[in-house]
Amino acid sequence: MSNQAWLSQGTLVLASNNKGKIAEFEKMFSDLNLPVDVIPQGQLNIEDAIEDGLSFVENAIIKARHAARISGKPAIADDSGLCVPSLGGAPGIYSARFAGAHGDDAANNAKLLADLKPLRQDGKAIDGMFVCVLALVEHADDPLPKIFQGIWHGEILEQARGENGFGYDPLFWLPELNVSSAELSKEEKNKISHRGQAMQLLRASLSQ
Ligand code: IMP
Repeated sequence: MSNQAWLSQGTLVLASNNKGKIAEFEKMFSDLNLPVDVIPQGQLNIEDAIEDGLSFVENAIIKARHAARISGKPAIADDSGLCVPSLGGAPGIYSARFAGAHGDDAANNAKLLADLKPLRQDGKAIDGMFVCVLALVEHADDPLPKIFQGIWHGEILEQARGENGFGYDPLFWLPELNVSSAELSKEEKNKISHRGQAMQLLRASLSQ
């Protein structure tokens, strides 16, 4: 079997039900112009997997295997999140459920600001990084998932800025560009983000 057999399977299931991620992937996969239809798992009535790994890579593999097992097709999953070193790496793999309920962006952002408040010192930036790990499996029991990882460094703002994106984007400051991630267009964000970096590695792997 070829190392890229999924390219001849006609369909690649995108193992995510996160609207923000799906919107970014739609644009990036359409730019790649692959000979496969990339179908978000929700269109196949596949619900979220139970993410009980301890790392991004473990959870990405769990999600990709889950979607591949139910669909019988190759699948790609993104496990991503925000890591803040001064919080010991939190919210990390718990980014989507930092404040409790899964995917409550407003509550997650409020908790992040509250947790950082006592750590703020005048004039000192708080570093953060967005992490994205993509896992692509040819089938549910694939012993060799393809892994692509991107890390995007920035700082955590004291208050939200910008209307674009999703999740923690309004709190993620890019000092070299003087904007928050939520002030970038989808195209601009995809060029430099953690997810965009991981997709560039996927693209490079196609010619190997
Ligand atoms: P996952 O779906 O379990 O991988 O959780 C991803 C969570 O990380 C999202 O719900 C967001 O809170 C956060 N996150 C990941 N990528 C981004 C991004 O590009 N912008 C903002 N937040 C992100």
